Amino acid sequence: MSIKARQWILNMPEYIPGKTIDEIKKDYNLKKVYKLASNENLYDPDPGVIQEIYKNLKDIKYYPDSQCSEIRQKISEKYNININSIIIGNGTDQIIEMVCDSFIEPGRNIVISDPTFLIYEKSALKCNGKVIKVPLGKFRQDAEKLIASVNDKTKVLFLTNPHNPTGTNINYEEFDYIIKNLKNDILLVVDEAYSEYMAEEDKVDTVSYLSRYNNIVILRTFSKIYGLAGLRIGYGIADSKVISALNRIRLPFNVNFIAQKAAVKALENESYVNDIKNKIKEEKNKYYRVLAEDSIEFIKSHANFILIRTGRGSDVIVEELLKKGFIVRPGKNIGLPGYIRVTIALPDVNDIFLANFIEIFSSIMGREKA
Ligand SMILES: *Cc1c(COP(=O)(O)O)cnc(C)c1O
Repeated sequence: MSIKARQWILNMPEYIPGKTIDEIKKDYNLKKVYKLASNENLYDPDPGVIQEIYKNLKDIKYYPDSQCSEIRQKISEKYNININSIIIGNGTDQIIEMVCDSFIEPGRNIVISDPTFLIYEKSALKCNGKVIKVPLGKFRQDAEKLIASVNDKTKVLFLTNPHNPTGTNINYEEFDYIIKNLKNDILLVVDEAYSEYMAEEDKVDTVSYLSRYNNIVILRTFSKIYGLAGLRIGYGIADSKVISALNRIRLPFNVNFIAQKAAVKALENESYVNDIKNKIKEEKNKYYRVLAEDSIEFIKSHANFILIRTGRGSDVIVEELLKKGFIVRPGKNIGLPGYIRVTIALPDVNDIFLANFIEIFSSIMGREKA
């Protein structure tokens, strides 16, 4: 190519997409492939939501509501907050991107844990920002080290609760420490993509902090427990001044019409969310039980995925699982070599996964275990 892209673009790491389900079926001669790599809710979406989608299909000839009024109204009622404190994104990914675009000047930095969700870093680099990475301590985000790493060039500190890729949480004490010790001209973004999976008593009520702190951005999504990842819709809650800045750079039709309709309907049925939460909790307990029986180490998770220690055998185990039709996330691709991250699926899939995994694990690691 003779046209050269802008230098900062060439400096970005290249995105290497995983194989599609169809490619894996073909390459490994498989009839069935289970994708347990991206933490989607693998149950079907709420039937009411699907019905709502069908009902609205013919209206896709119109542009969507650029203000996303209906869904913002619903969210404002859910949390009892002002509608001007809410922004809707084409997935929360887009809101993360908008936060960096709006607040990161060249040379300024973000503070993140390492490893964490990749989009924070990508979004900051895009703005010529720098990234300060703070290693996890025992798989948990380290509140004190995060705060100690903030400097006078810091614009945003990102937290993920529960964390991805570890599934660990941030508790009240830790959150409180961070917000109290962060200067209020630095944004604290709390990515709560999996928060609906948490037990009530483990949740930090971040919304309740908004009345005292105007530098918090809370991110939620319909991609995870609501089972609508393919529609691309998520939301951010923050002080209306922050939201107003984000709105200046938001493209008018950033959220599609069907996604808006589906999300409104999804918020009307909280029992769906509760049901999924309970099912996943039960299945997670099954994982804990079965893995513990075979003395396989894992990290207890507040989300719908689990980190399993695979040690030196990781690469072989991932490959053998693939041959059986299971796609998992290799830890080495997400900063945790020696581990795999597995999405909790439906009970029968979990059963066959665990049976296959334990057989593969034992045959590869058996000698080491003894
Ligand atoms: C999946 C995920 C999201 C959600 O992304 P969407 O763009 O809303 O699909 C955000 N943050 C984390 C940590 C995630 O794992």
